[in-house]
Amino acid sequence: MITIGVDFDGTIADTTKHRLRAVQEICGLVLQPWEMDREVLQDRISAEELRRVKEQFVEQNETLTMHSEPIPFALGWIAQLSKHCAIRLITDRPGERFSYAVDWIAAHGASKYFSSVHSSAGTTKGCVCLEQGCDVLVDDSVRHVTDLVGVTGILYKQGAPRDMFATGLLATSWMEISGIVSGLGREKWKIETAYPQIQQADPCVVGL
Ligand SMILES: [Mg+2]
Repeated sequence: MITIGVDFDGTIADTTKHRLRAVQEICGLVLQPWEMDREVLQDRISAEELRRVKEQFVEQNETLTMHSEPIPFALGWIAQLSKHCAIRLITDRPGERFSYAVDWIAAHGASKYFSSVHSSAGTTKGCVCLEQGCDVLVDDSVRHVTDLVGVTGILYKQGAPRDMFATGLLATSWMEISGIVSGLGREKWKIETAYPQIQQADPCVVGL
């Protein structure tokens, strides 16, 4: 059975929109969700502006987290994948912010899909993946899916152009993530047969 590490911010929970709003307020820049990445932003805004964006998100973290919508189709696909894979939450949120992520998952009725939850604060996601036996890490930050050893990184960037990540695996939807993961497994399962159930499993799905 494949074990998948899954990031929280911007991968399961759409906390990205809060940071996009902060970038607009602080820097006057209107960005696309897939551009909300340190590796992309560092050429567009100053380190000081980036610090202020992060600070604003940290200060209001509990409210902003709990008011974040799920990423489209994420919970439905996680429900499906959990039938075939072990899924571990791996977020670099420390302390209380980590607990807000766990609370958010519980509030959305998704705790049962996760085998375990981990904070990578003070270490790296690559290390946590190795310690926890993850075969795959799904994350929306370039820095977390590059230079992984023994773990397949999948960069999730909703709506991103195909050429934004030429050096690794890019998925622009959760359906694509599931397709990549199923291709990695020894046991092939049919995504197509699972697909109609996604709408029932994910209350946020409004149509396909
Ligand atoms: Mg993230």
